[in-house]
Amino acid sequence: MIKIGAHMPIGGGFKRVPKETIEIGGNAFQIFPHNPRQWKANLPLSEDALEFKNGIKKYKIEIDSMLCHSGYLINIASPKEEGWKKSLDLLIKEMEICSALGIKYLNIHPGSHLGSGEDEGIKKIVKALNIALDSEKNTFILLENVTKKGGNIGYKIEQLKLIIDNVKQPERLGITIDTCHAWDAGYDIVNKLDEFLEKIDKLIGLEKLKFIHLNDSKNELGSNKDRHENIGMGIIGTDGLKKILTNEIILSKPWILETPGDNEVHKQDIAKVKEILGVI
Ligand code: MN
Ligand code: MN
Ligand code: ZN
Repeated sequence: MIKIGAHMPIGGGFKRVPKETIEIGGNAFQIFPHNPRQWKANLPLSEDALEFKNGIKKYKIEIDSMLCHSGYLINIASPKEEGWKKSLDLLIKEMEICSALGIKYLNIHPGSHLGSGEDEGIKKIVKALNIALDSEKNTFILLENVTKKGGNIGYKIEQLKLIIDNVKQPERLGITIDTCHAWDAGYDIVNKLDEFLEKIDKLIGLEKLKFIHLNDSKNELGSNKDRHENIGMGIIGTDGLKKILTNEIILSKPWILETPGDNEVHKQDIAKVKEILGVI
């Protein structure tokens, strides 16, 4: 059985997430641990966390199919001390929220070096991750591949490897591959998927690939734009997605949709994926 779901809303509480995941045809999900556009983050109310966990049990959602996505303001690659420290503090808070909800994995963007250069940026990322992983002992961090824009680090698999190799607890790090980001960053995951996966295996290990962010792209291969499109509606398209999704390594990982639209649209996207695969 495939593991699939979408990025889910949390307005009104985390407790809504498990039920709505099932309602849209999913068995996996991603959520923000707090409002992603704010520096403020609070631990969940105990009643909300309890109801959330009860829902997880009731609907039999597996631990490896639940993901938190870090807020947008965090940049642990920042060369600016104040921004870096604020980012680190919020990252630790997010890990604590994950832990309170019983969510094992927190997905982060490695960050932007803001002009200081990739080597400097990676040093700051490693320094922040070492402190974060020491401060909170439960949560695993997944580095998401991104596109090459705005000083972003992590548009190449080599950069993700460098971060993992340099932290003190590499066993608590993994990666997420976003199909739109890989495509936009110039990885031809339609025609050269085996090569791409071999690269991940050789550099990082496929067992460290924990999630797929399943998005079509509005733009051409190598565009570096990062604009997600609904399933089959973009440049990767239905045929391209079929090639990706029938790969047995990809099939073994949970897929999270981050396509435009709300639960109702994601329900249609999930149905589309199942149609592509010929499973109902
Ligand atoms: Mn992301
Ligand atoms: Mn993504
Ligand atoms: Zn994106």
